[in-house]
Amino acid sequence: MERLQKIMAQAGVASRRKSETLIATGHVQVNGQVVTELGTKVGPNDAIQVDGIALMQEKFVYYLLYKPRGVVSTAHDDKGRQTVVDLLEEVTERVYPVGRLDYDTSGLLLLTNDGQLANQLMHPRYKVDKTYIAKVKGIPTNEALEQLRHGLVIEGHKTAAAKGKVLSIDRRKNTAVVQLTIHEGHNHQVKNMLAAIGTPVEKLSRETYGPLTLAGLTSGDYRPLKPQELLALR
Ligand code: URA
Repeated sequence: MERLQKIMAQAGVASRRKSETLIATGHVQVNGQVVTELGTKVGPNDAIQVDGIALMQEKFVYYLLYKPRGVVSTAHDDKGRQTVVDLLEEVTERVYPVGRLDYDTSGLLLLTNDGQLANQLMHPRYKVDKTYIAKVKGIPTNEALEQLRHGLVIEGHKTAAAKGKVLSIDRRKNTAVVQLTIHEGHNHQVKNMLAAIGTPVEKLSRETYGPLTLAGLTSGDYRPLKPQELLALR
């Protein structure tokens, strides 16, 4: 649900301020009723009319993308690099990513035009678990994994408890594959945490986001969320 004036502005009726005036002066109907209350919230299924003309509301859409490395996860890039939004070639709605993955990180990224759900998911209170698989230089000790569980101080911020597990070890190359589950989302958090315990990341991928997984997708693929996935996210 969004404020009526915001929906009107997004649909290109008028600026938010002018939309407020239109509402306050009785030009706007929601589901056949004139609405003059400025705080009125509307959803994608409400029928809005301005001076009797129906407003085409963008429906909320939700996509899961398997982000490849070498793509930025902002909607626009000043340097003209390919963005995750460019990859959703057949999507006509104005979607944006929920959180970020680094340019050189691959994996699961959710994109939507539902600002409310996006804000909710990104809020630390919701504690959405995200699982990453990292190839690291060095082999984390049990003590190092314990440090991840207790939290580390990174750039003055104490990280919340994270679950780390070594999946495989290559002693000859002195590398390991580590699975790390966190629910925070600070910039470069996984890289910073693994570097802080002495095993810097060489390669990073996000495997899960809350109940969502990459099952059935290959790098660069995307698909709409299934209704039950959307329900599980809320
Ligand atoms: N943590 C990182 O360090 N990088 C990402 O892309 C995501 C989480």
